[in-house]
Amino acid sequence: MKKCYAFLVCLVVMTSVCAQEAFTRQDSLRGSITPERAWWDLTYYDLSVEVAPKSRSLTGTNIIHYTVLTPESRMQIDLQPPLEIEAVVQGGRQQTFIREGNVYFITLSKPQVTGARETLTIQYSGVPLEAANAPWDGGFSWSQDSKGQPFAATSCQGLGASVWWPNKDHMYDEPDSMAIRLTVPKPLTAVANGRLQKTEETDKSKTFHWFVNNPINNYGVNANIAEYTHFSGTFKGEKGPLDLDYYVLPENLGKAKEQFNQVPMMLEAFEHWFGPYPFYEDSFKLVEVPYLGMEHQSSITYGNGYQNGYLGRDLSGTGWGLKFDFIIIHEAGHEWFANNITYRDIADMWIHESFTAYSESLYLDYHFGTEAASAYVIGTRANIRNDKPIIGSYNVNSRGSGDMYPKGANMLHTLRQLLEDDALWRSILRGLNETFYHQTVTTQQIEAYMSEKSGKDLSAFFDQYLRTAWVPNLEYRWKGNILEYRYRDIVPGFDMPVRVFADEDVQWIFPAATWKQTPFQGKPGRFEVDPNFYITSTAL
Ligand SMILES: [Zn+2]
Repeated sequence: MKKCYAFLVCLVVMTSVCAQEAFTRQDSLRGSITPERAWWDLTYYDLSVEVAPKSRSLTGTNIIHYTVLTPESRMQIDLQPPLEIEAVVQGGRQQTFIREGNVYFITLSKPQVTGARETLTIQYSGVPLEAANAPWDGGFSWSQDSKGQPFAATSCQGLGASVWWPNKDHMYDEPDSMAIRLTVPKPLTAVANGRLQKTEETDKSKTFHWFVNNPINNYGVNANIAEYTHFSGTFKGEKGPLDLDYYVLPENLGKAKEQFNQVPMMLEAFEHWFGPYPFYEDSFKLVEVPYLGMEHQSSITYGNGYQNGYLGRDLSGTGWGLKFDFIIIHEAGHEWFANNITYRDIADMWIHESFTAYSESLYLDYHFGTEAASAYVIGTRANIRNDKPIIGSYNVNSRGSGDMYPKGANMLHTLRQLLEDDALWRSILRGLNETFYHQTVTTQQIEAYMSEKSGKDLSAFFDQYLRTAWVPNLEYRWKGNILEYRYRDIVPGFDMPVRVFADEDVQWIFPAATWKQTPFQGKPGRFEVDPNFYITSTAL
C-alpha cells in the first residue's frame, strides 16, 4: 500500500491528505482474496514467538491449521521484511516456497483433499519493522520504563499482522481460536490476547501461554512486553461475571487503579447500548503500552497518560470530551464494532470507526444524558474534512477518508433522529451485534440490516454519507408564511426528512432535489434546521 499519513488507525486527528492513490500488485496481493488464499479455510493458529529485546529480534513458529475447500497446492502466506521465513513443513517434509515482496507462495507436495484438515508449520526469524509512529505507522514499538527495563509492544492495523508473524493476512478469514506463546527474558512479562493459561521458565527466560477462545482478526493479535504489575477486578455483566485484568508499569499502579475505574462504567454503558461484551470467555484486559492505544481484542492497549480526553484534549470542544478517558472508551468500544463485527475489507473501515466514534457519544448519553451526548457528537464536526468518501477502494487494502470517525458518528446520530425512537435505535445497535456476532462483514450487510430493521430504505442515505464527500445543503426561502426548500449536493434519490424549528413551531419537512413548500404559522423570527441533523442550510 502506498504510505498515506492522512489516516487514523484508530484515533481522531488528521495531519495531511493523501494526494493520489496508485495501487500495485503488492496491494492486490495484500488486499484481495487471491486464488492462493481462497482454497483453504483457516481454523487455528498456534503461534510461538521468542522476543529478544536486546537485539530487537524475533524467532518464532506458527502452526497453521486449515480445512481444504478445493484441492489446490499453491498457498499464500504473508510475512513482511526484514523478517524471513526459514522453513515450511507439512507432514514432516520440507516444502518449497518463493518470495514476492511481502508474500510467500508455498507449493505443497502433499495432495490437498477437499474437506481434509491439515496443518502447516512456518518457522521464521529476524528483526521486525520498528513502528515509525505507532499505532498509525505500526510495527514493534521499543521503549523503556523508568528503571531502564524494556517496554515494547506491537501495533499493525492496516499495515498487517504479517509485520511481526506469518499468517493469512486478509480480514475475511479468522481462526476459530488461537494460541499465543511469548517467551521473554526474565523478569519481563509478556501479555497477549485471551487468557493466561500457564507460564514456564528457564534460568533466563519465561514463556507466557495465552489462549484466545474466540475468532480473532489479524491486527487484533498483539504482544506487549514490560516488567508489568497486575491487578484485577470483576464486572457483573449481562452474561454473568466478567474478569477484568490490568497490566501496567509499576510506577503507574496508583494512577491506573484510579483511572481504570472507568472500565466498569464503560462496560455498563456499552452493554446497555450494544449488548453483552462479546468475549466473556477471554476476559477483558487493559494493557499499558508505549504508544497511544489500540483495540486489540480482549487486550485493549492503553497509553493515554492516565488522564481524561484524547491526550488531555477534548475532541469536541464542548467540555464533554473531558468527562472520560478517550482511549478507554473508544478502544473498548471497538470490542463490539471491530472485534465482534469485523470488516472484510478495510475499505469498509467505517463499520469499525463510525460506530466506535459514535460510542463515545453513547457513553455520555448513558452517564450524562442525551443533551451531553448530542453536544459532544455535534462538537466533533469541527474535525470533518469532507476531502473524499468514507468508503475506500476495495481489494487493495485501502481505507477511505478519516472522516469515517467524526462524520460517520454524525451520520449515525442523524439516523437516530430520523427514527425518533430510541428503543428501536438501541434494538438495532444490539441487533447488529447479535446478528453479526463474531463475523466478518461487508458494508452491504450492515446497510441492509439497518434499512430492514428501521423500516426505511436507507440506500440513498448511506450512498450520500459514505460514498460521496458532499454534505446535503438545504436551500430555502420564504414566500410569506410559506417555506420553499430543496436539497443541493445530493445523490439521486436522497430525500431525507429533517426537523426544523420556526419560532415555537416544530415541523418535519421532506426536502428532495426539486422545490417543495410547507406553510408555517407566520414567517418566523427564528428559523433553523435541528442541529442534530448533519446537513448545511442556505437562506436564499
Ligand atoms: Zn478507533
